[in-house]
Amino acid sequence: MHWADAFVQDLAGHQTVSTGISPSGPIHVGNMREILTGNFIYVASRDRGLETRFIYLCDDMDPLRKVYPFLDKSYSSYVGRPLYKIPAPQGEGTYSEYFLRPFLDTLDTINVKVEVIRTSNLYREGKFAEAIDVVMKNSQQIRSILEEISGRDIEENWSPYNPICESCGRISTTSVTSYSFPYVEYSCKCGHTGRSDVRKDQGKLPWRIEWPAKWKILGVTVEPFGKDHGAPGGSYDTGKAIAEKIFGISAPKPMIYERILLKGKGAMHSSTGIAIPASEMIRVAPPQILRFLIARSQPGRHIDFDPGLGLLNLIDEYERYRDIYFGLEASDDDDAKRIYELSRVREERPGDVVSFRHLITLLQIYHDDNGLLSALKRGGYTHNSISGDLRAEMDVARSWLDTYGPEQMKFTLLPPDAPVELGESEKAVLKEFLQTGQSMKWDAESIHNRIHEILRSGNTDPKEGFSIFYRVLIGKTRGPRLGYFLSNLDRDWVMERLKRAVS
Ligand SMILES: [Zn+2]
Repeated sequence: MHWADAFVQDLAGHQTVSTGISPSGPIHVGNMREILTGNFIYVASRDRGLETRFIYLCDDMDPLRKVYPFLDKSYSSYVGRPLYKIPAPQGEGTYSEYFLRPFLDTLDTINVKVEVIRTSNLYREGKFAEAIDVVMKNSQQIRSILEEISGRDIEENWSPYNPICESCGRISTTSVTSYSFPYVEYSCKCGHTGRSDVRKDQGKLPWRIEWPAKWKILGVTVEPFGKDHGAPGGSYDTGKAIAEKIFGISAPKPMIYERILLKGKGAMHSSTGIAIPASEMIRVAPPQILRFLIARSQPGRHIDFDPGLGLLNLIDEYERYRDIYFGLEASDDDDAKRIYELSRVREERPGDVVSFRHLITLLQIYHDDNGLLSALKRGGYTHNSISGDLRAEMDVARSWLDTYGPEQMKFTLLPPDAPVELGESEKAVLKEFLQTGQSMKWDAESIHNRIHEILRSGNTDPKEGFSIFYRVLIGKTRGPRLGYFLSNLDRDWVMERLKRAVS
């Protein structure tokens, strides 16, 4: 059974699956594990017949913690202020929306339908008021829960609620002096004293208290989160205790997931710049691959993400799962069909979809639609025109090749009259191929067999023999599998090119 289906086995009644993020920088592939893990649980829960809500909380009230490497130095004046009150690094709008927007576009592309809730709106609408009141009245008990479970000492003037200073706009520099619903009085390091109305967005709960407060306000029953929150004494442990002892509710069922590492570089963090933004990922990989990456991996195992050849292999594997789904290939992986089902973003029929690897080759041969279509037709595909889906895949394939494609995958066809230096024995190989080239069956296997036959009869080492063709056609000593490669080229063009090379 797939992990998402197994996870929802013991759930009963209405479910709310909650996910979220602090939009403090570009939302990257590593963060996608949160939303997609939640998405798969949501789908599994609904498939079990449970009424289920799926939400995504954008924590735009969180303060800017520091001037990240991707920010201008002038942002030092915004440190400590809530993200939704800071200007965007570029253009109009706020900091939080600037980073949220491309992420929401990405979700749209990868077919994740989720209710997006901005935490600042919950505060502004007074949704937190009751929870803040409970928290302020039980601050001593919360302090001891936090100290006992997290093992940290909490400073004397600590408060479970942080007012935003109305003078300097910072959230981390205020100290609470008194509380009487709905007002929290404070003094700020900037010298200002004032009061915050807990029914408005004039202050916020710190993360370890805000999290269980959200569970209460939104009725969260299931939540995936990263292993740092799930560590012993971490924010899930303290959140669970606060949920039970202060709010009188149960904590959501947790699904702890491991990180996604960027191959050779380590964990992705937008703050260190070691990250591929999710919006970049869908520029260079078909959208279903992002889903597949998460769906096929057990949440408890880390994922090593390699945007180069590794991504191409991942796409191959997705296509293999598709073949299994359609009964074209056998598999001993019981979850293969379910993984495919969770990953795909649209209906696919095997005869209609061009394999990504094949597309990579064709796009380097044909630079116009007609050439591409005739090659597809030769390859047995049924396309009469280039559909929107195929066009999108072509754009993605080109972007991948340009950005992450390894040199060994790249080639350019030489013009028919390009000069090439060949020895007599090398010319002899081509001449022999030319003799039957026009009459033979022009498919990958026949071409492959014919070339092997020629090389064997001339006692030519296959690798050296192949390189003659590659040098003549693309000016390199290696290239795509030769029979396959030639079969995708126009036969007359190949004959013309070889003739000129031997003359
Ligand atoms: Zn202040």
